[in-house]
Amino acid sequence: ASFSRIKEVDDNVQAFLTLNEEAARNQAAKMDEALETDSTRGLLFGLPAGIKDNIVTNGLRTTAASRLLANFDPVHNATVMDGLEEADALTIGKLNMDEFAMGSSNENSGFYSARNPWNTDYVPGGSSGGAAASVAAGEVSFSLGSDTGGSIRQPASYCGVVGLKPTYGRVSRYGLIAFASSLDQIGPLTKNVEDNALVLGQIAGHDRKDSTSADVGISDYLSSLTGDVKGMKIAVPKEYLGEGVHEGVRNRVLEALKVLEQQGAEWEEVSLPHSQYAVAAYYLLASSEASANLARFDGVRYGVRAENADNLIDMYKETRSQGFGDEVKRRIMLGTFALSSGYYDAYYKKAQKVRTLIKRDFDQILEKYDVIVGPTAPTTAFKIGEKVNDPLTMYANDILTIPVNLAGVPAISVPCGFSEGLPVGLQIISRPFEESTVYRAAHAYE
Ligand code: GLN
Repeated sequence: ASFSRIKEVDDNVQAFLTLNEEAARNQAAKMDEALETDSTRGLLFGLPAGIKDNIVTNGLRTTAASRLLANFDPVHNATVMDGLEEADALTIGKLNMDEFAMGSSNENSGFYSARNPWNTDYVPGGSSGGAAASVAAGEVSFSLGSDTGGSIRQPASYCGVVGLKPTYGRVSRYGLIAFASSLDQIGPLTKNVEDNALVLGQIAGHDRKDSTSADVGISDYLSSLTGDVKGMKIAVPKEYLGEGVHEGVRNRVLEALKVLEQQGAEWEEVSLPHSQYAVAAYYLLASSEASANLARFDGVRYGVRAENADNLIDMYKETRSQGFGDEVKRRIMLGTFALSSGYYDAYYKKAQKVRTLIKRDFDQILEKYDVIVGPTAPTTAFKIGEKVNDPLTMYANDILTIPVNLAGVPAISVPCGFSEGLPVGLQIISRPFEESTVYRAAHAYE
């Protein structure tokens, strides 16, 4: 059913970069056969899954939507893939994204742009645009995306699906092609909160292969879906409903707060005063980390190598010049500049200090309140091509998602209605390792 749906709609949606049809069909047949002698089924038995193409899959092409990795077949699995396999999920294929997860619209894919299934003239969001679009278009039951500055939540919001960015360290990053290692997290995109909780349970947990994964026990996320938010204290940052947030988005969020209020939750306006510096700090820090992480793509170790270079240095230069797209080059230049000795204190170090101030804002609010609620993005999906030549406007779009990554806390986007025919997302944020609280609030609302 999944593959026939893909055949029906994916010429328009363009969510997939690689299909895993033969292997998935064989695996499904084997699973059916095995049932005859052993009736135990994993929790995700037979569910069709799409995987963002920056998560490495053994023997299945993994490009991170970069032409530099157009022919890269990994020889191992990311830890999250082992989790899905143990739970008996089926990998249907690899999903479109912005190259190396840099972008907010999918237009930075090195191959072609995924589109919003609600209206294919609009972007699906990014960078996990294919992950959100594939679930919204009914091509897969769930997908895995990655979120460095909003890349799960913002496309989930634009495509009207549920997307969770777990606490930093909750899910192993082993086998996730690194963009900004201190911010990246893998998380599930699903049709509803229950599915999301189910998938997170299969991919979360400590992993010795990722030194930043946390040795903190995982909760039974499904049992947190009680529907009960009586007495829950909600903080609504005034910065999240202020200037730049479209009226239709603001109204849907205020209506959602009313729904939670009717169920016995209480909300108050608060302030996250340093949020206004989050975009500037993020683009310095994330680009700095990216400039170091992307040094490994040199034409020797992975993927495509430029031909006809006379010597080693030229081969590096040619491979990177031809292989990387414009946005990736922009980030490498920016990050290399921010880390250079004369500017390190003025840019990188200062941005780290701002990051600490932002984290403290969250700590203080979350001491008194259970969750922070606001929109996921200031607007609904924009038109393909509308912002593509204006990187600063594109970056500013991340203003409501980025602070969460800088603080390391968990956050979800759940659909909360429409504005002018396009979905709006409600963002719910909580304390580190309290994905259960996030899910409880989200499930009570949806
Ligand atoms: N839009 C942000 C960026 O371009 C976030 C990307 C992400 O979360 N991977 O960096």
